[in-house]
Amino acid sequence: MTTNKMQHFDIASLLRFMPPQVACERCCALLPHLDGICPVCGVEYILTEEFPTYTDYFRQRGLTIQFHDLIEHSQRLARIARQIRESNGGQTSSSYPPMRALLTALHSAERFVHFTTYGMSALLLGALKLTAQRVDVRGIVSGVKSDIMMREMTDYQDEAPHLHLRAFSGEETYFPHQKIIVIDGLMAFKGSANMTDIGWRKAARGQEIIEVVTDVAEVVELNNRFFSPAWAGDHAGERILMTAY
Ligand SMILES: [Zn+2]
Repeated sequence: MTTNKMQHFDIASLLRFMPPQVACERCCALLPHLDGICPVCGVEYILTEEFPTYTDYFRQRGLTIQFHDLIEHSQRLARIARQIRESNGGQTSSSYPPMRALLTALHSAERFVHFTTYGMSALLLGALKLTAQRVDVRGIVSGVKSDIMMREMTDYQDEAPHLHLRAFSGEETYFPHQKIIVIDGLMAFKGSANMTDIGWRKAARGQEIIEVVTDVAEVVELNNRFFSPAWAGDHAGERILMTAY
């Protein structure tokens, strides 16, 4: 049997690969385009003399989603997904546990990470702080019971300026029950595990469910349904005058 046989791949399928192009400034919804009103939070963008078009404003604000090499980056993330799927969520192979997939995905993020969690462990907060040295990390953290962890998350902003956390000690009105971690709008983890090493290690033993999502439409849906409304909070429906600050 020949080993260098070409794999079938129809380049026409690339025409269906339409990752999100822009993020809403207020709710961080991932959208194919945004011209006027965000369909997720209802924020209205108002054109000004300074910014007579939406495109320039979003570009200057860093809200357009572009990658150094989209195909290469997508392949990198897809490899992580394949490894965790092949190890059956980490249960059949100790060489690629879910925690490794999470750390590799955080390490591979090129633009942003969005997540929701109930509780947070020091180990994973450290991983997020490290990730936030390179990319924007935004998270909604509910159920923070320890004062030390709350201080760790809310103080020391200058250690990781790209880390943006909204932390609550209880379970706030806005908190979504679905736990998600979205990497660059291209890949996501969803399931019952929180941002704690205990949760992710339980998943390796089948005691928590973590599913990796690589369907871009579903990744966007998870982000816009579970993260964005909570991230917008009371700011939903505001008007944004497009100026350079
Ligand atoms: Zn929005």
